[in-house]
Amino acid sequence: MEASGTAEAPRPPHVAMLVTPGMGHLVPLAELAKRLAARHGVTATLITFASTASATQRSFLASLSAAISSMSLPPVDLSDLPPGATIETLMSEECARLVPALTGVLSGLRETTRLVAYVADLFGADSFDAAVAAGVPRRYLFHPGNLHGLTFILHLPEIDVSMPGEFRDLAEPVRLPGCVPIPGPDVMSSFQDKSDPCYRWMVHHAKRYLESEAILVNSFDAVEPEAARVLSHPEPGRPPVYNIGPLIRADAGEEPRAACLDWLDRQPHKSVIFVSFGSGGSLPTEEMHELALGLELSGQRFLWVVRSPSDEGSVNANYYDAESKKDPLAYLPDVGLLVPSWVPQTEVLAHEATGGFLVHCGWNSVLESLVHGVPMVAWPLFAEQRQNAVMLSEGVKAAMRVPATKRKEEIAAAVREVMAGQGKGAQVRANVAALQKAAMEALLEGGAATTALDEVVRKWTREY
Ligand code: UDP
Ligand code: UDP
Repeated sequence: MEASGTAEAPRPPHVAMLVTPGMGHLVPLAELAKRLAARHGVTATLITFASTASATQRSFLASLSAAISSMSLPPVDLSDLPPGATIETLMSEECARLVPALTGVLSGLRETTRLVAYVADLFGADSFDAAVAAGVPRRYLFHPGNLHGLTFILHLPEIDVSMPGEFRDLAEPVRLPGCVPIPGPDVMSSFQDKSDPCYRWMVHHAKRYLESEAILVNSFDAVEPEAARVLSHPEPGRPPVYNIGPLIRADAGEEPRAACLDWLDRQPHKSVIFVSFGSGGSLPTEEMHELALGLELSGQRFLWVVRSPSDEGSVNANYYDAESKKDPLAYLPDVGLLVPSWVPQTEVLAHEATGGFLVHCGWNSVLESLVHGVPMVAWPLFAEQRQNAVMLSEGVKAAMRVPATKRKEEIAAAVREVMAGQGKGAQVRANVAALQKAAMEALLEGGAATTALDEVVRKWTREY
């Protein structure tokens, strides 16, 4: 809107978003902020935790447009927590302890902006206390996973009361409304041990999710149609759920072009399987060896983002040591490329030489694969990845899951079928092509994601 004459231009609506730690949370929230700015003229402040103020995060935040500000909350002392505390527990504690500081930040934003809503992400529901104290009119929750994950969280308080024992010991899969039945051991890892504070935190968050005016989810209907149908008619007392995805990371932008993309340029059309386990995943040594042998056996070209096995901190020099005859990795075929630590993943997935993705099933990676029409081989590790793998391989059939035994022959077979589009791989490829189309359509004018976000912004701006 333009100012006319001497009248002051009305201030744009502003939203404050709390980003709990992890690039997998920051990226989709930043994409949401970009869309709000571009389509609705809504400006945003992304509020991050000091514990994750990494260089990657800082440069990512600095690259955002002027409509999107960012600030970091002060550091919090968590040294009283036991050494084995899970990441979920750490994030939850950090969030709860930051309520006073966040109240100050939100009160400040109320004075300097036209603050119409507050959005907290996954483990951030305790921060609603700050929004209430600061008098922010509307409180929303952003769920960076999918509707299956959200359904499990929303049902946890009642399961907690009704289910004796642990998920991992259940003889029958867990059946929740609209969800693919999930075998107990595949239910998200934060639910697996009732004696861990992390489990109690999840029950606590689940209860507080009900305080949000609505829950925004980074998914789209076609990838989990039944869950979408069920959640579109929330039970009484449950907030409405809006599927606003897929929100995926835009390309790397100004960065110098990565060498692996030059390598991909030289490979035939759809001939390369991309192998990556996300920002935090690494494999035990045994599994790494079996994967290397399985990739070799598959006869496919591959691009593998290699991390050192499990407990070591950096890339293991062995992977480049072709003279070590005892190391199975030394027998890797010369049709593959190993890249240490990190690649610009969306650009790799967008490249025409990429024909498949062996993926840990982190939800951002799955969405990126679907948006680029890349069929998947599922190799889940932790968090909600195992239930994502079940949903993708048993539900919408957009991935083939590597059997739990993870033998090289099984790995090779799954990779070959997906790459060649044979056997079950044919179905996977056809389904992924359909999902790619559905993902694109959701984001178009009149598409489901666009319409949902329009409705949310209408609510935000109706009275303020
Ligand atoms: N809480 C905690 N550690 C935990 C779980 C919860 O300190 O592992 C805190 C949490 O911040 C909350 C309180 O304990 O303020 C009660 O949480 P709970 O989920 O047990 O109860 P409810 O949400 O039903 O009040
Ligand atoms: N990613 C990347 N390069 C890598 C590994 C990961 O760009 O080498 C990005 C990936 O594109 C995705 C995010 O990091 O956007 C990982 O999020 P996801 O939810 O898939 O998994 P997580 O890292 O949280 O396990």
